[in-house]
Amino acid sequence: MKRRKFLKNSAAGSAGLMATPILVGCKDKKVAKESTLIGKQSVIPIVIATWDVPNATAKAWEVLEADGNALDAVEKGVMMEEADVENQSVGKGGRPDRDGNVTLDACIMDKDGNCGSVVYLQHITHAVSVARKVMEDTPHVMLAGQGALQFANEKGFTQENLLTEKSKLEWMEWKKTAKYQPVINIENHDTIGMLAIDKNGDISGACTTSGMAYKIGGRVGDSPIIGAGLFVDNEVGGATATGVGEEVVKTVGSFLIVELMRQGKSPQEACEEGVKRIVAKNKNYKDFQIGFIAVNKNGETGGYCIQPGFSYRTFSKDGHINHPSKAYITS
Ligand code: ASP
Repeated sequence: MKRRKFLKNSAAGSAGLMATPILVGCKDKKVAKESTLIGKQSVIPIVIATWDVPNATAKAWEVLEADGNALDAVEKGVMMEEADVENQSVGKGGRPDRDGNVTLDACIMDKDGNCGSVVYLQHITHAVSVARKVMEDTPHVMLAGQGALQFANEKGFTQENLLTEKSKLEWMEWKKTAKYQPVINIENHDTIGMLAIDKNGDISGACTTSGMAYKIGGRVGDSPIIGAGLFVDNEVGGATATGVGEEVVKTVGSFLIVELMRQGKSPQEACEEGVKRIVAKNKNYKDFQIGFIAVNKNGETGGYCIQPGFSYRTFSKDGHINHPSKAYITS
């Protein structure tokens, strides 16, 4: 075959390939990934958050709608709950540890896999913003306790008393029996985990909590642990968790869910598998709650939990919707 003819044929060949919708089996990673999305309508931009937190998802959507990026959306979104003193499991107003200290855990992760985290942070309402500063302004991923507070002070965050009168009175009441017993679906808004995809298709996530009420001083849960309480891979999707953090840490839950999506599971299937791993390892699974949410690159979402009562909220062109989650325990 003459060289010119060969080139002509191969050009026609590749044009044909581009027009062919079935690309499964192609070794090129990018093309292979696109093949899993064939026939599915993309739902981006989108935001998804654990629990029914309309103020948080509306704020994140406001950022996305104004062509803001997913990182700003998740930070601004979860900040709404951190500032809300009525939400007693996040930020200011959060329930204290058994000694009466409110200690916050938070993390954030961007489209490039950068992440920042703070654990056992006291006196600062917006733990997620301190986590973002750790990500952007330090060579580290995680700062803890006094060091995290010192860093926040250096960055100009204002110190506040995070223990509200309401949480203080409840804690004093709790001290009468002082029994550590995590409450299932407390107030229907627990740890806030949020994932967003912006108009460019880039994914970010954030997670923030005051942790389990009346925990031992110094206890840190899953929420600020990258891979456990939150994980984002911009090629695949993101996942985040709420519930008894110790169990999420043991299975590296959010990382597991993202990896399951990478292997082809839908966000819903991946969340279900994540919960079932925890159930399989715990005879006492009926005594605690775990909830996972996930989104894939295409904007498809899913959520699953152990106990009925968990829900998650999405905001996209399809509306601002609270989804009661499917649960492992059905009655
Ligand atoms: N996952 C959080 C923790 O273990 C608490 C929660 O979501 O309720 O600290």
